[in-house]
Amino acid sequence: MKILVCGGAGYIGAHMCKALAAEGYEPVVFDNLSSGHRHAVKWGPLVVGDIRDRRALDDCFAAHRPAAVIQFAASIEVGEGEANPLKFWNNNVGGTVTLLEAMAGAGVTALVFSSTCATYGIPDRMPIGESEPQRPFSVYGETKLAVEKALAATAKISPLRYASLRYFNAAGASPDGEIGEEHNPETHLIPNALKAAAGIGSAMKLFGTDYDTPDGTCVRDYIHVMDLAAAHLAALRLLLDGADSFICNLGTGTGLTVREILSTVEAVTGRPVPVEESPRRPGDVPRLVADPSFAQEHLGFFPQYSDVGTVIRDAWNFHKTRWSLAP
Ligand code: UDP
Repeated sequence: MKILVCGGAGYIGAHMCKALAAEGYEPVVFDNLSSGHRHAVKWGPLVVGDIRDRRALDDCFAAHRPAAVIQFAASIEVGEGEANPLKFWNNNVGGTVTLLEAMAGAGVTALVFSSTCATYGIPDRMPIGESEPQRPFSVYGETKLAVEKALAATAKISPLRYASLRYFNAAGASPDGEIGEEHNPETHLIPNALKAAAGIGSAMKLFGTDYDTPDGTCVRDYIHVMDLAAAHLAALRLLLDGADSFICNLGTGTGLTVREILSTVEAVTGRPVPVEESPRRPGDVPRLVADPSFAQEHLGFFPQYSDVGTVIRDAWNFHKTRWSLAP
């Protein structure tokens, strides 16, 4: 059975394709390669195309006849969204709307959508449940929320059924080291901390040490990319079996500060992480931790790889090879 994976050459998308192939599905990647990597597409065909290009999508649906779509393709870097909001509205909202139109045209009714905890903004309660108000703090979060609204409205009047998965902090890499996180520029904490530990570039900037958290640095809920992929598979199976649309947080329920991550990076790598304490980064919120109860009940989702030591060890194994460091 073919599954169309938009953005399948990117970080989470590539791990998704690997997980799909391991379960006997054939992932067909549709990606414009603006930030994804050709070398990360290994488990099925690559169609180079842009989700804003209706004709390219129509051709892809006609050629491959996928049973369902998983939509990762998006601009994701929060700071870039603030500097270039129209790029994010065009790509994330315009692109996904075009994809929905193409799906309707092709009669494909099942969609797993990559959403984000950034749609919650600064939540009133912690941990965050799915019914927490959505008041995004960034253009990125706004565009993901806009797509969630488009999905809800479309599902009301059409056969579309979707799962909107609100990720917390995706991290880690395939345990065999085959694929991992390769953003350019890299803005995420764990790869940046590993880079600093490896002595590549200068000290890592630690953004904000005066938050109202146990050690003054931001608290996040880190979830291993393999666990994320497994949760998508579970969501996909539900939709293919005819389940109704649903919205689900994907996190572990455990919050860690930036300093706790840095000390685990030092323990795993055996190297110090040079740090430059810096002002708060615009768009950051103090604390984001998932309430994972609904994912547990609805998806049977219990993370297997998301303890912080495993997340960082797998990321380190991947980056060591990529940076050609001695084992
Ligand atoms: N962070 C940091 N230095 C970096 C990258 C990130 O101090 O080089 C902090 C960031 O300010 C936030 C946390 O690490 O408090 C997680 O950031 P990341 O970009 O990994 O994920 P986000 O929560 O923004 O999606």
